[in-house]
Amino acid sequence: MTVRVRFAPSPTGMFHVGGARSALQNWIFAQQSGGAFVLRIEDTDAARNRPEWTEGIIQALDWIGIERGTYEGPHFQSSYAAEHTAAATRLYGEGRAYYCDCSRDDVVQRSGNTHTGYDGFCRDRALGPGEGRALRFRTPDEGATVVVDLVRGEPTFENKLLEDFVIARSDGSAVFLLANVVDDMTMGITHVIRAEEHLPNTPKQQLLWEALGVKPPVWAHVPVIVNEKRQKLSKRRDKVALESYRDEGYLAAAMRNYLLLLGWAPSGDREIVPWETVLSEFRLSDVNHSPAFFDVKKLRAFNGEYIRALSAEEFAAVCAPWLSGTATIPAPPWSPAAFDTQVFAAVAPLAQTRIAVLSEIVDYVDFLFLDEPATDEQSWNKAMKEGAGDILDAAAAAFGALDEWTAEPLKAALERVGEERGLKLGKTQAPVRVATTGRTIGLPLFESLEILGRERSLARLAAARAKLG
Ligand code: GLU
Repeated sequence: MTVRVRFAPSPTGMFHVGGARSALQNWIFAQQSGGAFVLRIEDTDAARNRPEWTEGIIQALDWIGIERGTYEGPHFQSSYAAEHTAAATRLYGEGRAYYCDCSRDDVVQRSGNTHTGYDGFCRDRALGPGEGRALRFRTPDEGATVVVDLVRGEPTFENKLLEDFVIARSDGSAVFLLANVVDDMTMGITHVIRAEEHLPNTPKQQLLWEALGVKPPVWAHVPVIVNEKRQKLSKRRDKVALESYRDEGYLAAAMRNYLLLLGWAPSGDREIVPWETVLSEFRLSDVNHSPAFFDVKKLRAFNGEYIRALSAEEFAAVCAPWLSGTATIPAPPWSPAAFDTQVFAAVAPLAQTRIAVLSEIVDYVDFLFLDEPATDEQSWNKAMKEGAGDILDAAAAAFGALDEWTAEPLKAALERVGEERGLKLGKTQAPVRVATTGRTIGLPLFESLEILGRERSLARLAAARAKLG
């Protein structure tokens, strides 16, 4: 059997990190088994669907490593409407489905407000199609539906607890449960790997497969992703859009690796493993059932490690969008003409060891490309306390007298200024750092001054001194 899996997002305008995980798991499974990965856009909710969203999905997949050309599609659910209708008609014709005109209120009322699902009221009324009539699937009264699930074993569902569910609306259009099954069937899908929230749909869908006379797929329901409060990640509460992580400066490789660790661990004590290792070691059967914690702090640390593992050239390349801005990443505060690639190359190694996400690069290096440092008030107030003027004067004099403008002599000079005043290096560094870079926190000071250069460093010390009065 040739494996065929699919990723079937409903377009929403953003790409949920949970979707990215499912897509990766499907794609890896297809790679491992020499099978095919199909992208299907479940676009039947016309009101909530725009063509550019499909392009957004394709781009997000591309970014995470599922590149165009490595999969089939996109196919669009909306183009299979005829197949959906044919399946609904067939189920009705074979007595596996019946029309029902009960309103939700009717059902709730009949149940004495203890609504536990549809009560089968229309099962034997032999209604034909018509205005206000939905088509319901007649679920078996006896027996159980056992689904084969690579992650969860063999969850078993008692058929008598499954309500007769709607498969088509009164206008004849299929609802998700049926459309999704018909599409999978039409596309020859063999394995359905998707989020756990769909597990309750699975026995119903498996019954549809069986009723339509096709062997159901093997299922794999991967665990729900939760936040630090153990709540399911939600787009209202949590940052869930893959694009926002990308634009903040998470590396695709780090994100991809981290997403795959949600519910799965590579062998041994390792977490950071090469992609090739993931590709060969990942097993759906090793994915566990418990909710997976999306730990943003851990992801940040993870990303930092990936950043540090880059070569200088790679680091410069991945920083580029933040150094110039893109359609979705804001332009940096300096003018494009002020940016100097060589200056950046000099400072980049200092930043590479310190940043956790790429967007942080801007605040670390802006002092080199702005006419004046972007001084924030808090840093100024903290550093420019009593004695700061004296330190700035002494530092300017000591630096000005240096023959060689490099980190070591600069450091030695400031140390002498401190010794003469009985101050530790940290105390003397703070006003110098804020005067020259604008902030109390930043890259190592003396290397920064070396790169900033004699003239600009001394001018900034003088400007700060003047501002202090
Ligand atoms: N469109 C559905 C979703 O995004 C697909 C579910 C499935 O994979 O079967 O949740």
